[in-house]
Amino acid sequence: MNVILMGLPGAGKGTQAERIVEQFHIPHISTGDMFRQAIRESTPLGLKAKSFMDQGLLVPDEVVVGIVHERLGNADCSNGFLLDGFPRTVAQAEALDQTMQELGRSLDHVISIDVAKEKLIARLSGRRICKQCGATYHTEFNPPATEGVCDKCGGALYQRDDDNEDTVATRLDVNVKQQEPLLAYYGQQGLLREVNGDQEIEQVFHDIANYLQQSR
Ligand code: AMP
Repeated sequence: MNVILMGLPGAGKGTQAERIVEQFHIPHISTGDMFRQAIRESTPLGLKAKSFMDQGLLVPDEVVVGIVHERLGNADCSNGFLLDGFPRTVAQAEALDQTMQELGRSLDHVISIDVAKEKLIARLSGRRICKQCGATYHTEFNPPATEGVCDKCGGALYQRDDDNEDTVATRLDVNVKQQEPLLAYYGQQGLLREVNGDQEIEQVFHDIANYLQQSR
């Protein structure tokens, strides 16, 4: 099952991705996570990505396309994958089509989690992430049992550098502009499945799972 998960930052992609990979046994491939890891490890890729990410801007297509192409060729993707945060531009979507063709495969579903932009600002500035396992929380809408501590592994929770309010507004603007042509691209291919993200987490997952259980 080859799936793309779309939605503006804060729409709940990370939270839903955790549930999807658990239920459908496919790897979660988040380009944002790959860049954050590269930055932590100070690799050449991390150095390239950091200046763009810190400003809330997209990393150049050729950089992103290269790492995704390499990742999808790995053995753990042979039964499918869940792409999160990629593609973000039509050029990336076209490059992905080419990669899929080379691998002799095709996309099954493009799930778009829809939430109004105004709601996302509040969601993003309250977001907290576990340093140890990457689980996501929200100070108001999905708080951990103990403030600042991960329910799953006891790790410390932190706020991402690009989740502060100034950067959030820029990130949302960049993403809204980029997302529209992509939705049109996958809409035309008959792959787009739109889910209302302004519902309880479990209900959003239920709606997504309904689509994923249907064949293309
Ligand atoms: P995310 O965790 O998906 O919100 O991504 C965080 C940041 O990583 C973005 O604001 C971009 O700077 C960069 N990034 C992640 N995925 C992509 C992509 N597909 N294209 C360009 N930049 C990306």
